[in-house]
Amino acid sequence: MSKPIVAIVGRPNVGKSTLFNALAGENISIVKDTPGVTRDRIYADVEWLNMTFTLIDTGGIEPDTSDVILAQMREQAQIAIDTADVIIFMTDVRQGLVDSDSKVADMLRRSGKPVVLVVNKVDSFVKMMADVYEFYNLGIGDPVPVSANAKLGIGDMLDIVTEHFNQEEFEEEEDDRPKIAIVGKPNVGKSSIINKLIGEQRVIVSDIAGTTRDAIDTDIVWDGKEYVFIDTAGLRRKSKIKEELERYSIIRTVTAVDRADVVVVVIDATEGVTEQDAKIAGIAHERGKGIIVAVNKWDAVEKDDKAIYRYTEKIRMTLSFIPYAEIMFISAETGKRLPKLFEKIDMVLANQAMRVQTGVLNEILTEAVALQQPPSDKGKRLKLYYITQVSVKPPTFVIFVNDKQLTHFSYTRYLENKLRDTFGFQGTPLRFIYRERK
Ligand code: GDP
Ligand code: GDP
Repeated sequence: MSKPIVAIVGRPNVGKSTLFNALAGENISIVKDTPGVTRDRIYADVEWLNMTFTLIDTGGIEPDTSDVILAQMREQAQIAIDTADVIIFMTDVRQGLVDSDSKVADMLRRSGKPVVLVVNKVDSFVKMMADVYEFYNLGIGDPVPVSANAKLGIGDMLDIVTEHFNQEEFEEEEDDRPKIAIVGKPNVGKSSIINKLIGEQRVIVSDIAGTTRDAIDTDIVWDGKEYVFIDTAGLRRKSKIKEELERYSIIRTVTAVDRADVVVVVIDATEGVTEQDAKIAGIAHERGKGIIVAVNKWDAVEKDDKAIYRYTEKIRMTLSFIPYAEIMFISAETGKRLPKLFEKIDMVLANQAMRVQTGVLNEILTEAVALQQPPSDKGKRLKLYYITQVSVKPPTFVIFVNDKQLTHFSYTRYLENKLRDTFGFQGTPLRFIYRERK
């Protein structure tokens, strides 16, 4: 089931980041060794009354002149319209209504997307309420007063935002066809891969009309099996600002990855693996998705018999946080090894859905503990009593222990490797949760 997406739009300095941080707060799931995910965070999962949604801050860099501000706000609003299910349009009661607010409000209204008009910096709900009414003039509904700084009115705002979620839509997306997101930097060959696959597929499936978000989905039938490819290249922005482009590419990646079962991270062989690739792969890792690293344009590389070995080493090093990822070398241009992509996808899907019986898990745990002592602190040693698998996609295990404080990531990694030695689990991350049993 995919999560609803909520985007915050508004002029610079109205308080978008402040609200984002207030909402994301401790919900930001920080995966320690994932590069880029903790820095410059522009998306986070937020929980409110049993509902989870992905919050996106579309605000980028700070422009200095007012015409640039408007151009950029339009661009942000367009990103929100393209990607979000609900848009929070933020204004500032201290500055009052500004011309660019009205222009952006018009644009949002025309999109037909649910918009929640939030008036920030209402630090006193008694004294400042009169100034809030002015915002009715925008014609996009009731202004919702908040103070992001003081965390006032946030609960009421979240109630209104979540009321807009069309629960059915998110439950209905539960179709059985595997969803594959093709992600990667601009120009690595994402569209070329999808076009080649469409050209070679053995049955043509017509486009299924749906919501805007489905419009960039492509159905591909391979060996009698249907796959849905989610293309992040489909919607292309033409911003000249590098930061803006990167931000947009990250937002597109997050929303696509969220809906996917397996993520294909495309790398340009002629360029080699980069930090931006690591950032993108980090999103898939953090969200527990199956990962295949596809090194594209392999036709354009000067090769000797060790080239694949060298490239693999380099990728393993730069993407060291996903040692489980499958790596393959393809060419969208010649079509070389593209059919193999489906074999890998099927394998990763199977591994993501694999369930291991509790009895077998505990045998492995017992043996692992006997081979290598668990960590200890101040004379107290970690005891691992019991392990059981609680879910799939990704496979998630609960381990009952005497004291959670004594657990250590290096020992968890050791246990993970033991499980992988036996079951492989290639292409999928594994999750471990510790619970105390006294
Ligand atoms: P952004 O550019 O829209 O992301 O705005 P920021 O979140 O960076 O906030 C801009 C400024 O407004 C900062 O100095 C914040 O401290 C301030 N600010 C944010 N929320 C509030 C609020 O509720 N009340 C007041 N008085 N100031 C706020
Ligand atoms: P996207 O932005 O990731 O969707 O990248 P495109 O699919 O638009 O490809 C960017 C450029 O790389 C285009 O000029 C393609 O022709 C080229 N390209 C894509 N795949 C390959 C490939 O396998 N080999 C070579 N030599 N060029 C490729």
